[in-house]
Amino acid sequence: MNILFFGPNGSGKGTQGAIVKEKYGIPHIETGVIFRENISKGTALGKEAKGYIDRGELVPDSITIPMILDRLKQSDCKNGWLLDGFPRNLTQAQELDKALGKAGIKTDVVIEIVLDREIAKNRIMGRRLCVKDNNHPNNIFIDAIKPNGDKCRVCGGDLKTRSDDQDEGAIDKRHNIYYDPKTGTMAAIIYFKNLSAKSKGAPRIIELNGKPGVKEVSADLLKKLG
Ligand code: AMP
Repeated sequence: MNILFFGPNGSGKGTQGAIVKEKYGIPHIETGVIFRENISKGTALGKEAKGYIDRGELVPDSITIPMILDRLKQSDCKNGWLLDGFPRNLTQAQELDKALGKAGIKTDVVIEIVLDREIAKNRIMGRRLCVKDNNHPNNIFIDAIKPNGDKCRVCGGDLKTRSDDQDEGAIDKRHNIYYDPKTGTMAAIIYFKNLSAKSKGAPRIIELNGKPGVKEVSADLLKKLG
């Protein structure tokens, strides 16, 4: 099963993505996580990406596209993958579609979490990351996933904030990119929706309302995945 997962920063994509990964036993490939791992290891890629990430800008396509296309060639992707955070603009969508077409690989499902910009912003600012596992949900503004004091609610690990999560200017920039229907992430979503409309519903499009709590969104997601 090959799945693309869209949703604005702060829509709970990471949390829901972990559920999909579990259901199909496929790798959850998160572009942002790959970049952050490279930054913390001090690799050349990390050094190059850091400035863009801190400013809330996209890392250039010349770096991001080959990085993801290479990742999809690794052996754990043989039985499918879940891509989260890529494609993030129209060019990435076109290049991904072209590369998959060449390799004879199809995108089966496109999931979109639909969420209002203001709500997404609030959620980002309340988000806390568990140092042991990025996907442990913790948010100081959401009752259902409030941390345990200053510790992770799942494992008791230490929590930290992402530097680009506390900078309103950077959040606005990331959302400007996401909600841009001409060249941004919305344009990438529209690209796959048009493809689906032209090809009798392939890939399958699943839209989720991201406004309810984590559990409600997961239930809706699992029901629609079937
Ligand atoms: P995320 O964890 O998805 O919020 O990503 C964090 C940051 O990594 C983004 O704000 C971008 O700077 C960078 N990034 C993530 N995915 C992409 C992508 N597909 N293309 C370019 N930059 C990306």
